Amino acid sequence: MLKKNDEIALNIDSCTALGSGVGKYKGMTVFAANTAPGDHVLLHIIKAKPNYAVGKVVKVIHPSKMRITPACNVFEKCGGCAFGHLNYKDELQIKYTQVKDNFNRLGGLDIIPQPIIPSVSENRYRNKAQFPVSTDKFGLAEIGFFAPHSHRVVDCADCLLQPEDFKKITDIFRNWIRIFKIPAYDERSRKGILRHIYLRKAVSTGEIMVCAVINGNSLPYSDELVFELTDAMPSIKSIILNINKKDTNVVLGDKCITLYGKDYITDILCGLKFNISPLSFYQVNHDTAEILYKKAAEYADLKGDETLLDLYCGTGTIGLTMANKAKSLIGVEIIPQAVENANRNAELNGVKNARFICADAAKAAEMLESEGVRPDVIVVDPPRKGCDESLIGTIAKMNPERIVYVSCDSATLARDCKRLKEYGYEVKEATPVDMFPRAPHCETVAVLSKIHN
Ligand code: SAH
Repeated sequence: MLKKNDEIALNIDSCTALGSGVGKYKGMTVFAANTAPGDHVLLHIIKAKPNYAVGKVVKVIHPSKMRITPACNVFEKCGGCAFGHLNYKDELQIKYTQVKDNFNRLGGLDIIPQPIIPSVSENRYRNKAQFPVSTDKFGLAEIGFFAPHSHRVVDCADCLLQPEDFKKITDIFRNWIRIFKIPAYDERSRKGILRHIYLRKAVSTGEIMVCAVINGNSLPYSDELVFELTDAMPSIKSIILNINKKDTNVVLGDKCITLYGKDYITDILCGLKFNISPLSFYQVNHDTAEILYKKAAEYADLKGDETLLDLYCGTGTIGLTMANKAKSLIGVEIIPQAVENANRNAELNGVKNARFICADAAKAAEMLESEGVRPDVIVVDPPRKGCDESLIGTIAKMNPERIVYVSCDSATLARDCKRLKEYGYEVKEATPVDMFPRAPHCETVAVLSKIHN
């Protein structure tokens, strides 16, 4: 039996869905972050429970062949890059195996996914960042990321997953915070003003959105901030205050005030223009999203006379990139700003056969079903928790020929495919697409067809 503060040598033989290494010690499962399958490590046990333990690496006795030296100097403190110490090829293999295992174990489905499609780039692929802000006792800004399992900010001058422009912007914020003594928000006292700096870049057009998330209704010295930002970087087209006065871990509040420029930025994806507002979802890996959408379109296999239903449609991206091959498109999305974007995006691209509904996907589907809408193809792209159970039933009632399921969590994808199988839908093909190098998550797109007996 392991106890806290024990030191043990351990072989790491697999890793969890969150990227932590796993080994067995006298039959007990031991987890250790920043280890790799194939490592032999010396661990200090920091947590011991009856059925598992967690260890911290004291020393790597024998490194796994998968290891590389992390490119980032805050790798261990930050915890954002679960796979920062692995070869990208091995990372892809681990992600592939996880998707396959989830289909097999959680879905009870005997599926061999297609080879995983790698990200177009391993570094600087993200177009969005949310940096928490704190100030140290000298009033100097710490802008970076929360340390794992904590809300302590790890200062990070330049995250290698993000555009270099973002460093320039956070540097301007640092200076401005120091000069004007802007207090960062303190979660314990709930005092202070600046909570997060939220940045987005439309990589095709170069347009940048800067959003300051604040605990208040206005930001002191905001004119000076706007001047500094726009003077240094003409590509900043939108500066926004987001009001979040709640005692919550959720980064963004509901209300936005535009300080400068437009209240959105415009990107080009799959040849179409998309306006994106701060509260709207947008794929973080632009170049790989194009590959994902192409695969989704191939799976949708539209001929031109179909009704297409795009559930969880965000700003309409997936549906709009397919609309020219369908008779009509209906999109459903719960965030009002995203629906506004979707309607405008249809207009921007001259798409006349689309309409968008602002509602919960399960409720909207039920309503459409009762109105007699019978889509030929349904695309779903839910958040990590997957589709509501009731939505699966409603989709089956609508009786589409094909369902294209885009998922950022293969565990809930597998669960939903299992449920859909009970309604007579079979997974024909699935392709993992790595949209998030270094992070433990992996996107998967699957196509399910109706079984005709
Ligand atoms: N398909 C889009 C968005 C995918 S992200 C794209 O590729 O860009 C998932 C989307 O589902 C988000 O826009 C989120 O706001 C939305 N969403 C979350 N819960 C929802 C619900 N219950 N009903 C409808 N949409 C929901």
